[in-house]
Order: sequence, then C-alpha cells, then structure tokens
Amino acid sequence: MKESKAMSNIPYKIYLEENEMPKRWYNLRADMKNKPAPLLNPGTRQPMTAEELSGVFCEELVKQELDDTTPFFEIPEDILSFYKMYRPSPLVRAYCLEEKLKTPAKIYYKFEGNNTSGSHKLNSAIAQAYYAKKQGLKGVTTETGAGQWGTALSMACSYFGLDCKVYMVKVSYEQKPFRREVMRVYGASVTPSPSETTKIGRQILEEYPGTTGSLGCAISEAVEVATSTDGYRYVLGSVLNQVLLHQSVIGLETKAALDKFGIKPDMIIGCAGGGSNLGGLIAPFMGEKLRGEADYDIVAVEPASCPSFTRGTYAYDFCDTGKVCPLAKMYTLGSGYIPAPNHAGGLRYHGMSSTLSQLYDDGLMRAVSVPQTEVFAAAEEFARVEGILPAPESSHAIKVAMDEAKKCKETGEEKTIVFGLTGTGYFDMVAYEKYHDGKMEDYVPTDEEIAASVAKLP
Ligand SMILES: *Cc1c(COP(=O)(O)O)cnc(C)c1O
Repeated sequence: MKESKAMSNIPYKIYLEENEMPKRWYNLRADMKNKPAPLLNPGTRQPMTAEELSGVFCEELVKQELDDTTPFFEIPEDILSFYKMYRPSPLVRAYCLEEKLKTPAKIYYKFEGNNTSGSHKLNSAIAQAYYAKKQGLKGVTTETGAGQWGTALSMACSYFGLDCKVYMVKVSYEQKPFRREVMRVYGASVTPSPSETTKIGRQILEEYPGTTGSLGCAISEAVEVATSTDGYRYVLGSVLNQVLLHQSVIGLETKAALDKFGIKPDMIIGCAGGGSNLGGLIAPFMGEKLRGEADYDIVAVEPASCPSFTRGTYAYDFCDTGKVCPLAKMYTLGSGYIPAPNHAGGLRYHGMSSTLSQLYDDGLMRAVSVPQTEVFAAAEEFARVEGILPAPESSHAIKVAMDEAKKCKETGEEKTIVFGLTGTGYFDMVAYEKYHDGKMEDYVPTDEEIAASVAKLP
C-alpha cells in the first residue's frame, strides 16, 4: 500500500538550507570514458584551440569549454550570492498529480521557473555575464528563440552593467512582444532575426525570402556582431559544455535534496532542446552511473517536429545556419533544418549538446519524442492540479513523466520519478490559445525531409 501524504515524512517542497547549497559546479565530462568530440575549426577541420575560441567567447568560459578532466569548478562568490536571490529552487513532490493519476509512482519535479526570466537559463546567464565583466568587456551578443535565454541574459547583464544585444528569432519576436519588452526593461537591444543589420542576415534573407527565422540564423548574426565589434563577445544559452557545467547546479541541488530524505530516484526525465537543463539535472546522477556507483533510467524528451536524438544523425555539423560557427559532433537534423512554423512547443534547435550526444550514443540514456498537442494536453492536466502554468518546453517532460506514472499504475510498480520543470509559460499564451481553439497541429517531418536536410551535413 502506498504511503498517504499524511503518513509521509516527505514535505511537499524540499528546500535546501543556504549552507547546503552547492558551492561548486560539477563537470560531467571528467567522469566520461568516451569524451565528447572536440569542436572543429570549420576551415581546417582541426580541433578549435583556446586562442581561436577566445575571439568568440570569454577567456574563462573557453577554459571551461575545453576542460574534459577537472571534475569540479568553484562557483565564484559573486555568482553564489546572485544564486541565493532565487535559489535553491524547490524540489516538489507532486502529491496532487499522483492522486489525480491514481499512480503508485512517486513523482518529484525540480522547479526552475521562480525568477523573472521564468526558466533555468538564468543559472548560466549570470555565470557568463560575470566572466565577461571580469574580462573587462563592454558587452555581449546572443540569440534567443522563445525569449527565455534573452531575458535571462538581459537580467544578468544589467546586474553587472554590461551591454546586451539580442537577436531574436523573428517568429518569436512577432508572437511574443511582451517577452521582448521584458528584455528592454533590463536595457537590452532586441533585433528580429534574420535582419538587415548583418552580412549573414542579408544573405539568409536573400536565400530564404520571408523566412520566420531559426535559432541557427540568429546565432550566425550574433556571432558576426560579436566578432566584428570591439569589446564584445558572443554568449550562448545552451548546447555548449560550459552551459551544461553551470546548469549542474540544478542536478546538484536535486541530488542533495533527495539525499536529505534518503530518496533514490529510478527515473530522471528532462526536456531536451540543446540539452542544457537535462545535462544539468542529470549531471551528478549520470556521474554515479559512469563511475558504476548507481543506475538510473535517464530520459530525454524532444518534440516530434524537431527530433534530433530520435531521428537525427550523429555527425559533425555546423552549430548555426550561416555556417560561421565551429563544427560540433552531435545528434543533428542538419543545420538548415527549420521546424514547421506551426510548431509552438519550443526546443527548436537542430542539434544536441555534444556531451549528451556522446552519452546517448554510448547507451547511457534514452530519448523519446512527443507530438505537441499531447504535450499541451499534459501541460493543462498538470496546471490544473499542481498550481503552476508550465512552459511548453517543460511540458515535454511532464508528458513523459505522466506516461511513466500511468505505466506504474498498470504494473503496480512504485517507481520514483524525478523530472525537470524548467519554467513557466506565461509568455506562451498564443500557443495555449492555438491549442484551445483547436488550431494546433502535430507536424511530424517525413523521412525524406530529414534525409534532405541531413544530406547537407559538412
Ligand atoms: C530554453 C528552455 C528549454 C530548453 O533548453 P535546454 O538547453 O535543452 O535546456 C527548456 N525549458 C525552458 C523553460 C527553456 O526556456
């Protein structure tokens, strides 16, 4: 018989005390036998050197990017005190959802939406802004899709007095004017991408007139501006090793909170766009798995309309549509892949973190893809019982956590499921509206479409 919540000694929300919060980030790569493949220079096809990378990224971040062996990095004092403003984030026992589903499974979610940016992205934004400031830079450039990263970075830059230039995917710029205004509250300049303000933007507009843009295009523009403007560097909100490193704070807190109550999860589930929240959430658990100390069923959830893991190819590819960035070895749909315009669920990036790609290729985690109408249905079911309006991205994880909990109901297994609830969906109401009005479709690319895109791999 399952313990009732009255009998349980486990609180609804597990918060860590200030002195229990992680003081170091964990670098998962240090425990990987098969290291993620290095970034390659697109011209010479040789591994990118620190010197080459430091034209694009801040020096300290380049070191973190290239370091496959140091297991822990001290979190600088300034970042720790910024974290204290909105962390620890709660690990919530989803008692109400469990009751609704009548499942014997125990469901926990780590909620990262408790800050103005509304997502986990602030964890890395503040770190990247800190290192830019420390290097004496004037500002940074970046891309943003749905807008969470741009918002997080704008907040972080205003905190350290840095200029922030954001290239926002055009479709989001138009659909999410309020997100844009939040960035401007923090003093950032926001340009819809592709734009006429860069050489690559003009090229892309010529080649694909009327395009609604993609993350890949926006990255190309942001990199061009960073590398051609004195005192600026480019920063990226996902995919890179350094971002997964900063996001390990999510997993370290989760693990500390579970350990505090002697809870051992069976499954860890996260949505995967570029892989940063998932990489962060699973980091210490995957570390145990790599060292042979424990085993977990680790699941990446991606949209059926942008299925990099489940239908992509593991190969070197460009990180951006304009092909100006280094090549990364990853599961990819091809850098020219743009999800159908009716796709509203986020997680639109064509590739996946090299670290996660290697772990997936080694069979250490699995992946599933889900259609967006089912994701929104799960989001609503969750919102009605758990009192959080989830981001569509996060709802991919909700959907699979609920599916797994329903399976437990059939088998009677009392699995402990942990999933990452990466953010809130208040700026995604146009997508929710489409769903309510029955105007949301499940576009799933054909094999031919994916093959055509993958055929253009370098
Ligand atoms: C950006 C974002 C994601 C996906 O990015 P990852 O790098 O894959 O984590 C997921 N959820 C929310 C709320 C986001 O803003």
